[in-house]
Amino acid sequence: KNKVLDTSSKDLTPSYDWFQTDYLVTVVIYTKQKGMNSEMVIVDYQDGRLRIDSILRDYSYLLHIVHVAEKVGKVEIVLKKKDNIAWSKLGQPLSSHNSFIKCTERGLYYRKCKLISKTEVTHDTKLFCLMLPQSTHLQVPVGHHIYLKQIIAGTEIVKPYTPVSFSLKSDFKEPSHHDRTHLILMIKIYPNGLFTPELDHLQIGDYISVSNSEGSFKKLQVQTLEDLFLLAAGTGFTPMVKLLNYVLTNVCSLRTVKLMFFNKTEDDILWRNQLEQLALKDKRFEVQFILSEPKKEGTGKQGKISSSLLSEFVKRSKKDSKVLICVCGPAPFTEQGIQFLQDLGYSKEEVHSFTA
Ligand code: FAD
Ligand code: NAD
Repeated sequence: KNKVLDTSSKDLTPSYDWFQTDYLVTVVIYTKQKGMNSEMVIVDYQDGRLRIDSILRDYSYLLHIVHVAEKVGKVEIVLKKKDNIAWSKLGQPLSSHNSFIKCTERGLYYRKCKLISKTEVTHDTKLFCLMLPQSTHLQVPVGHHIYLKQIIAGTEIVKPYTPVSFSLKSDFKEPSHHDRTHLILMIKIYPNGLFTPELDHLQIGDYISVSNSEGSFKKLQVQTLEDLFLLAAGTGFTPMVKLLNYVLTNVCSLRTVKLMFFNKTEDDILWRNQLEQLALKDKRFEVQFILSEPKKEGTGKQGKISSSLLSEFVKRSKKDSKVLICVCGPAPFTEQGIQFLQDLGYSKEEVHSFTA
């Protein structure tokens, strides 16, 4: 099952074929791997160019053609013909067509998405809702991020952002149609920042370039989990949103999920109300807020990430229970967190940090 992908063996290189009827063209990819799902295939049709990127573990199999148009490891893409005439070939191959290389070597691919809405979360953080083009299929896996690209003062600037869900819902099951066609980003605007003030200037209806997703988190890490601890600081909360929704509905072995959320002041806490509502609704979930610069004395816990805070917080619900601790925030926060957890005896496999 966990066979290492050996690219030197020709047998494991995917292949493709295509078929047509009077109305449809079907492209079929034989991935030669089991366990395919729709998150692993990204399809774009932009400027008359069809691009199908199949992500197979760490590898990317690309079909890139100009024209014209889970169970058995077969991916099927059905294209509706504009004119009902016979095609003599699928298209003219473009650069990298039919190549199978490491995902890290593929480079980012962008498509333009439309800004649909912008809503306030806190005094400096907003929810940006972007709509994918109709001809794009892109589902960002839990814990992965995309890149936004803008030209600022004549220079291309790229920054990573982690899509969230519209809300923290306790009844999350399958991604809805809206989840498949829209990306929701929770972004803090830094008045002195390079990228975010420009982003904030975008008007509803404007377009922005969005890349394919990246990330090292794998759902496999939570499959048989019993205790999940989340350590988030500021916008480091964003990867925790989809993760919370996912584990609370899909991981039946789960007994406890605890979030320790670090912020400067009370006004900086993202989705506080939603987090408290979720904790009331789902007894497995608990949240604690830690403020580093509280405006008033005596309102909850104070301080920064420390060994003593963590040793109390990350206790297993029972001896030998399967545990995962996820950390995300400013780089020094994440580095200190990882070090404290290591000192407390947690193994590398039991700690995941979200990074680019
Ligand atoms: P920057 O220009 O980077 O500045 C940020 C702040 O630092 C400003 O206050 C600025 O004044 C200060 N600053 C800049 N340079 C210095 C310096 N040399 N010394 C001292 N201070 C300085 N952010 C989100 O809001 N939401 C997300 O979902 C999200 N996801 C991310 C996912 C990943 C994997 C990573 C790595 C980061 C993520 N981020 C996210 C952060 C995001 O990528 C940007 O770094 C952030 O938006 C800041 O962009 P900026 O260019 O506006 O600010
Ligand atoms: P912030 O400056 O408002 O700080 C939030 C809290 O982080 C503070 O209250 C404090 O408890 C802690 N903190 C800050 N600096 C610290 C330090 N030097 N040492 C220890 N603890 C510290 O945070 P923000 O402006 O919301 O920034 C969030 C950070 O998270 C950004 O750096 C962003 O790049 C990162 N981020 C990473 C990802 C990812 O996937 N890797 C996702 C989202 C955000």
